[in-house]
Amino acid sequence: MNLKHNALQCIGNTPLIRLTRASQETGCDIYGKAEFLNPGQSVKDRAALFIIRDAERRGLLKPGGVVVEGTAGNTGIGLTLVANVLGYRTVIVIPETQSQEKKDMLRLMGAELVEVPAVPYKNPNNYVKYSARLAEVLNEREPNGAIWANQFDNVANRSGHIETTAAEIWEQTGGKVDGFICAVGTGGTLGGVSMGLKAKREDIVIGISDPLGSALYHYYAHGELKAEGSSITEGIGQGRVTANLEGVTVDRAYQIDDTEALNVAYALLSEEGLCMGGSSGVNVAGAIRLARDLGPGHTIVTILCDYGQRYQSKMFNPAFLREKGLPVPGWLEREPSVPE
Ligand code: PMP
Repeated sequence: MNLKHNALQCIGNTPLIRLTRASQETGCDIYGKAEFLNPGQSVKDRAALFIIRDAERRGLLKPGGVVVEGTAGNTGIGLTLVANVLGYRTVIVIPETQSQEKKDMLRLMGAELVEVPAVPYKNPNNYVKYSARLAEVLNEREPNGAIWANQFDNVANRSGHIETTAAEIWEQTGGKVDGFICAVGTGGTLGGVSMGLKAKREDIVIGISDPLGSALYHYYAHGELKAEGSSITEGIGQGRVTANLEGVTVDRAYQIDDTEALNVAYALLSEEGLCMGGSSGVNVAGAIRLARDLGPGHTIVTILCDYGQRYQSKMFNPAFLREKGLPVPGWLEREPSVPE
């Protein structure tokens, strides 16, 4: 019986979708885990639920309390969803460069939004550090206190993926999974899924699919945290080894530029009906690279993180794409074929 008692019970248990073109091109079976089908429409609902439940168990989050977080948006949406169900408030700190669609979504859900300039992590006004300070202040002032979700270094994030995402992938593939790959924002997904799957099968190959501007490709490929270039993708890219990545074995590293990622994302939409955001393009592009390295006949799983509509004003906006020197999907500029 598919009867749910509340929206939280709709988090997780997402399908695995076979990606036709990626599979055909490589002779492998490449599957995308459909995380966009979570009620908050992204992979971050799982982390949000586990972080809030963990804070409750520890007695840190009290009834009517406030959850504060610095986020590129999706974690904020997940936290606000969970908070609305459980009777908490959210204060979300977001870099102003993130898409308008995500900011609008946060506001309409009832989050209190604080937009801050996008500055590097080492700057004390970086959104993550700003949110940590704000949580301290609010914890003093708010009648029921406040917590800092701290998704980057709170390993309740990756626990969510060990206990749910990895377990689901193992079950859905009947244990027949040779590789897993995804990009890193906090590392919760990559860290948790890889730990969960490696516990079941030690020789599973774990890959990281890293956008430009992130330091992790160089770290896992050459042992040095080094970043180059930039990316329009949101929610991914990392300059350090977060607590969620500590102790995680990454076997293969691939650097994916925006053109490669967007072309994959546009093909997923136009050929397979999957309207995905840029990070899913990075993930599937990485899965194709990993499949080529492993050779035909392997089963590889990656993550379809969120919907492309969350980035409509960017990756589906010809003016924005042209300004960035990126490919424009043909159908966005097609002349109408139907006579007026
Ligand atoms: N894709 C998108 C769109 C995201 O918002 C995030 C979360 N920041 C990720 C991928 C990466 O997930 P994680 O934080 O688990 O590394």
